[in-house]
Amino acid sequence: MSDRPQVCAVIAEETVDAARAAMKRAGGIADLIELRLDFLRDFDFSNPNSLRVLLEDKPLPVIITCRAISEGGAQQIDEQIRIRLLVEGAKRFADYCDIEAASYPEAARLSPDASRLIVSYHNFDETPDDLNAVYARVTSLPAAIHKIVTQARTITDSLAIFNLLQRARDEAKPLIAMSMGQGGVITRVLGPSRGSFLTYGSIARGKESAAGQMTCGELINEYRIRRLSRATSITGIIGSPVSHSASPAMHNRAFAELDLDFVYLPLEVEDIEQFITRMVRPATREMVWKLQGFSVTIPHKTSFLSLLDDLDQTARDVGAINTVVIRDGKLIGYNTDAQAFLEPLAGIHALAGAKCAVLGAGGAARAVIHGLLQSGAKVSLFVRNVDKSGELAQSFGIDASPIESLSSSDAAVIINTTPAGMRGHSEGTSPVPRAALRGRQVAYDLVYNPPETRFLLDARAEGCQAIGGLEMLVAQAALQFALWTGRAAPLDAMRDEAKRFLES
Ligand code: NAP
Repeated sequence: MSDRPQVCAVIAEETVDAARAAMKRAGGIADLIELRLDFLRDFDFSNPNSLRVLLEDKPLPVIITCRAISEGGAQQIDEQIRIRLLVEGAKRFADYCDIEAASYPEAARLSPDASRLIVSYHNFDETPDDLNAVYARVTSLPAAIHKIVTQARTITDSLAIFNLLQRARDEAKPLIAMSMGQGGVITRVLGPSRGSFLTYGSIARGKESAAGQMTCGELINEYRIRRLSRATSITGIIGSPVSHSASPAMHNRAFAELDLDFVYLPLEVEDIEQFITRMVRPATREMVWKLQGFSVTIPHKTSFLSLLDDLDQTARDVGAINTVVIRDGKLIGYNTDAQAFLEPLAGIHALAGAKCAVLGAGGAARAVIHGLLQSGAKVSLFVRNVDKSGELAQSFGIDASPIESLSSSDAAVIINTTPAGMRGHSEGTSPVPRAALRGRQVAYDLVYNPPETRFLLDARAEGCQAIGGLEMLVAQAALQFALWTGRAAPLDAMRDEAKRFLES
């Protein structure tokens, strides 16, 4: 058995030819292959010899799997035929077969040799409370490796998986354990460094066989899974949703660039209190991991300030955080958005005394207004709902006006902090008509996806200097990176990675 974290490429193709081609590709990426036979439409399940053609050129060790419908299988196959195919196939053509615990008696009847057997348990609904009893039951069946896969309804369900991995380690039993779903992504990335025999990856985007599965390429190149260990420092992004965030790509690239033993994970968190108590706060957490801190995104930027031990002055003034650092057992909140917002702007326009109009009154607007006021700018707010924004305007001592009245303002700098124009939201639109940008000097859009928004195109057409949101995105991440690692961030690498991610 290898000590190196093993990445298993899952091949779930509909034809024998496509499966053979996919296995060939997997040969250059992964450490082993799981071949999902139940996906095949042109395969003779009743004749184990048909595996000869399929596996004759296998580039890596192969686990054959043919799931029953009740365990997530893709088609109905007679139970005896299915088990015979797997048991004989593993003996003659493959390296292992994966058989559900419920089908174990039939497999044992056909062959008492368990040396090529993976006995598995799946729960597609939940992570049951009695997982230890499940483990005891499953591992009592003779097998080379046991496997337990559950559905994570929340990220804290992952704790039960990490506990099982520790137990299996203590008992020297080879175990594959993980959780499906967004909350379980952490088990897929960290599982091998905690003793899981392997982790599964798809061969390409769109070819996933389970929710939360990453590609083998992402696991190996982005998350650098082969070098992760219990000593690896961990960071990540908490929020909901986080699966489309550019931050893992940017930060992991930066860690690789400086060869730091760090990894950055997408942490899908809904119940923030439970997460902080059970997984984060050093005094109460139930998991052994070197968590250094994390980025914070919607909906938690303002919701859990009271759960932190301290706030830095900017976070206090802004009233929102985007970063947590764990230092000396304490959770400290930071806001890197305010400084990051200023960095691209300060270089092209003097802000002391400059008249600036801020569009929108959400979380990002708070950081922007704070940064502008700190720089001596004169700030006015333009919003679609003046009543709703009254408190924010009052807290900063500025005026709020309807966004339709922007044309009559003499602001030289216009900053869009609304999501108008964002991909998947209202791409192609602008929060203001083009004429409202006429005669301005600078137009700054916080939206970074797409990089070219209608607001920026209109601004350029009106002769303004235009700044897109990408530079701020990179700058806020770079400041976080420095807080966690104490090192200056490799800005060019982070920018390249953010662009690559947004184009992909
Ligand atoms: P948020 O808290 O939801 O606030 C959005 C604000 O925009 C609210 O005041 C909302 O008004 C207003 N709004 C929404 N659509 C509008 C429209 N069509 N016209 C006028 N006002 C509109 O969001 P956020 O966290 O502040 O983020 C806002 C944007 O900034 C997002 O696109 C985000 O990706 C971007 N951002 C970028 C960076 C970066 O690093 N580049 C950093 C942070 C945020 P109501 O309250 O009436 O709904």
